[in-house]
Amino acid sequence: MKISTLSIGDELICGQLTDTNAGTIASAFLAEGLRIQRHLAVGDNEPDIIGALADLERVSDAIIVTGGLGPTADDLTSLAAARATGRRLVINEDARSHARLMSGKLKNLIFCPLSDKQVMIPTKSALIPNPGGTASGFHLMHNGCFMFFLPGVPSEMIVMLHDTVIPFILERVGRKRVIRTSTLNLFGPCEAEVDELLLGIAQPDQGLTLGICVTFPWMKVTLRAEADTIEAATDLLLPAVSAVRERVKEYCFSSGGSSMDDAVAELFRDRCLTISLAESCSGGLIAKRLTDIPGSSRYFCEGAVTYSNAAKTRLLGVPAELLNNAGAVSPECASAMAKGIRHASGSDLGLAVTGIAGPDGGSEEKPVGTVFISLAAPDGCWTKRFQFSGNRDEIRTMTAWTALDWLRRYLMKRG
Ligand code: ATP
Repeated sequence: MKISTLSIGDELICGQLTDTNAGTIASAFLAEGLRIQRHLAVGDNEPDIIGALADLERVSDAIIVTGGLGPTADDLTSLAAARATGRRLVINEDARSHARLMSGKLKNLIFCPLSDKQVMIPTKSALIPNPGGTASGFHLMHNGCFMFFLPGVPSEMIVMLHDTVIPFILERVGRKRVIRTSTLNLFGPCEAEVDELLLGIAQPDQGLTLGICVTFPWMKVTLRAEADTIEAATDLLLPAVSAVRERVKEYCFSSGGSSMDDAVAELFRDRCLTISLAESCSGGLIAKRLTDIPGSSRYFCEGAVTYSNAAKTRLLGVPAELLNNAGAVSPECASAMAKGIRHASGSDLGLAVTGIAGPDGGSEEKPVGTVFISLAAPDGCWTKRFQFSGNRDEIRTMTAWTALDWLRRYLMKRG
């Protein structure tokens, strides 16, 4: 069955609101083995809604529309649905009773008085109950296409989708396909590198697709296998996941919904090591990330934000002479900071970062984005220079991610 979605609302096409309904509906159908074929978004404009319904109807067996069912003047979906399908718009007594009942229940939450507009439904439609709001949804059949109209409010829409729309569609779907997905999260390479590394793994004609989604500063590789049975989909998916892992090696920090912070936390718990931080340009970001994870007190001892030279000397014992000669943004300073915090705290590991986040303070030799990261451990001290690009926020974010990735790679090697 070919299913499309249509989101309606000026806020959506003006960039004031993110269209989460489209994603929610797509994920809900995917979980049932059905893919959304097309998605459109239009503003609160009757000709555009009618045009979008006509366009989608030509290529779809079902369309799920959200938004514009409320009582205000810009809510035009019912009117447009009636015009698009050659129906009359009439007061629906069941929708009116529902609205009255719900407005009694929700009286503290409703800001608009009830109006007949909200209970005007195209003729030859069936109501879709809305247990969370006053506006009923409705569905109808036009030119062989099922059209479902749901409110835009995500909490109302999702209940109606699961209670009515998905069961209705599943009952009418012929041969059902099974879709299994697996996601690996990567940090380090750019999109083009990953694309090249993973060349040839996808086999769309066999039902195996691969998608790369960049979410600064990391990316997700999602494998999707589609087959007639769970067994066949699994047989298609698992070797492909192993092949991706084999090729991306240590770039992969986690799978599924697990974050870089979760991955580092898990390794710390496993290895029974402790850590302290000395942060300059990251201003405590790394400490925040580490302590965001519940239970981090088992391995995180302390963090010092040593922004000034004086603080670096007083708290970490970085010699004033070193700061004068090599400068605060130097490999010498980074390694003295890492050793200093390790010594002062008594932690197994000391990690330090110092750099220039900008927008000022760069030079030809050390431009904005120059960052030194150093890790002092029982088996040695390593320092590396990085050159990040972007604005201040992006440079600080990259610094924190790279430092955490360093920790992850070190802890993995410690086995
Ligand atoms: P209401 O009765 O509240 O007017 P409605 O069906 O008319 O419901 P809209 O007015 O279009 O829905 O949207 C109500 C609210 O729901 C929006 O202000 C927005 O917060 C949210 N919303 C609408 N569409 C979407 C969408 N596609 N994705 C995420 N949120 C949405």
